[in-house]
Amino acid sequence: MLAARRKATNIARSHAARSLSTKVSSSNVLGSDGRHEIWREGIYDHDNEPKVKRRDGSYQPIEKLRGFINYSRNKEPYRDPSKRVLDWGELNPVEGRDEEKHTEIERKIQAARCMDCGTPFCQTHTGCPVNNLIPEWNNLVYNGQWSDAIERLHKTNNFPEFTGRVCPAPCEGGCVAGLVDAPVTIKDIEYSIVDNAWIEGLITPRIPKERTGMTVAVVGSGPSGLATADQLNQMGHKVTVFERADRIGGLLMYGIPNMKLEKDTVDRRVNLLREEGIEFVTNADIGKNVDVNELRTNFDALSLCLGATKPRDLPVPGRELNGVHFAMVSVIPYPLEFLTENQKRLLVTKEGHLESNWDKEKFITAAGKDVIVIGGGDTGTDCIGTSMRHRCKSVTNFELMPQPPPERAQDNPWPQWPRVYGVDYGHAEVRAVFGKDPRVYSVMTKEFIGDEDGNVKALVTQDVDMSQGRPVAVEGSEREWPCDLAVLSMGFVAPEEYIAKELDLELDQRNNIHALYGDYRTSIEGVFAGGDCRRGQSLVVWAIHEGRGIADAVDSYLKEKRRDELEAGKPTSVFANLSSINAHV
Ligand SMILES: Cc1cc2nc3c(=O)[nH]c(=O)nc-3n(C[C@H](O)[C@H](O)[C@H](O)COP(=O)(O)OP(=O)(O)OC[C@H]3O[C@@H](n4cnc5c(N)ncnc54)[C@H](O)[C@@H]3O)c2cc1C
Ligand code: SF4
Repeated sequence: MLAARRKATNIARSHAARSLSTKVSSSNVLGSDGRHEIWREGIYDHDNEPKVKRRDGSYQPIEKLRGFINYSRNKEPYRDPSKRVLDWGELNPVEGRDEEKHTEIERKIQAARCMDCGTPFCQTHTGCPVNNLIPEWNNLVYNGQWSDAIERLHKTNNFPEFTGRVCPAPCEGGCVAGLVDAPVTIKDIEYSIVDNAWIEGLITPRIPKERTGMTVAVVGSGPSGLATADQLNQMGHKVTVFERADRIGGLLMYGIPNMKLEKDTVDRRVNLLREEGIEFVTNADIGKNVDVNELRTNFDALSLCLGATKPRDLPVPGRELNGVHFAMVSVIPYPLEFLTENQKRLLVTKEGHLESNWDKEKFITAAGKDVIVIGGGDTGTDCIGTSMRHRCKSVTNFELMPQPPPERAQDNPWPQWPRVYGVDYGHAEVRAVFGKDPRVYSVMTKEFIGDEDGNVKALVTQDVDMSQGRPVAVEGSEREWPCDLAVLSMGFVAPEEYIAKELDLELDQRNNIHALYGDYRTSIEGVFAGGDCRRGQSLVVWAIHEGRGIADAVDSYLKEKRRDELEAGKPTSVFANLSSINAHV
């Protein structure tokens, strides 16, 4: 009783303080449970919501007008790193199971921080690549209009459940609140909108009412291929997606590991697309076991969404030793790789039966090994996270570049993507288990050293000086590191060439398929390209953006084609359904 009275007095005091203050205070508003402190006593009839502690110390109803001043950014934490390394479940906490999960009140508070700016940089070209209508859905979440929120989110983003999990959130780098304080937790809000929508059954098949009679083949089922297919299907075209792997999803399925994106989440969306009328053909390696020219003949348009799957190599002495592997993609003469085969191994049913064609002989384990991951980025972090779950003996991560600064450098102003030091999930796990960060900066690998059986046992590095804008080896800085598994994760250089060769497609100077941004037409009529195979290795959100762009370009092309055919008075068999074609034109 006494404590309650003292608290009430404090509230009254802080009310007074608040009325004088317009500045953002840094006072801590988060309680011991990691959320904004709440106060349920007293008379307050606003939707039965509690009062929430503001930065000025007062407890008041949640309000949006000055939300970014009153409340702190509070990102929903991932699950505890020392616990999650023991399983392959997603990093994100699960509703009703994990205590880290934000409450509905905390979600509302975070949405209240959005200022609804006149120029929302978060959704322009400086922020979200798919131009998500961020302030609109933040406002809808604040008002509890979750079904309107998913409707707005789907307007610009075909697969928010993927971006809500794996996107690095360039939107947050451009958030205006980030100029004076910390950005809004946009990615978390996106995630909660789409997850809520799946749980509430708000996402159901949208089967197109009319069909145009036009057919499109999409090669590749990563996010760019899936977005292309989704858009074109909704426009009424008949879409078939061809994938060489045994499962649909591209890197969503066999690249990005389970802990970032569980595979049921990918299957759930693919099944929905299937119900909506898209046909999927797996184990169809176009250009190898299916003739690409046959597709050109049998479909009205062809879209290439092949990804960029040629890994960058490290041609130094000892590269051929056992235990030196690419992070992903088996290529001649190196048939073994680390991540994909691991992912296939995890695709078992609850009864323990394998659901994919996992080949035990090709599986590389990090268990009990000194692992060195060469190269950072998402792939490098995923190799670290995977090694931790295999129970490696140690893991070290080499970066050629120096350690980024803790805050934006002068040449990296807002609203650019902040190139600052961060701790990704894999680094946090190594810190939690081994007590130190795995990253070693400004080093390059000079040589792998093997034992008498041809297995790698160590590697030699040399420090590099980047002060002149290019790597300069520092004399006498050689170091030897024990290593019995080295994973090369230095990015991907280009798409594989066989389809481009067969079609005689023009490539750009980086060996990507040549097609102008926004146009997506290749050098061959009726053939389009986008995603990583056009822009180079990138992000899921950019792949979705390009997939949507390809669909618009293909649709315009099909309309032109149909008009020409009809004007020439010779509609072909694919135009059999003329009434719906006319309706579509
Ligand atoms: C390990 C790893 C982790 C990543 N983590 C992230 C992350 O956290 N966040 C993020 O935003 N991005 C991440 N990325 C990048 C992201 O996955 C890619 O940018 C994105 O998947 C590209 O999409 P895409 O559709 O262009 O190509 P992909 O996803 O590569 O899909 C291309 C598909 O085409 C198929 N294909 C190719 N050739 C043929 C053929 N001839 N016949 C039939 N099928 C063919 C391939 O099998 C593949 O399935 C990661 C990448 C990797 C490798
Ligand atoms: S897709 Fe990525 S950039 Fe766009 S709003 Fe979501 S997290 Fe931000």
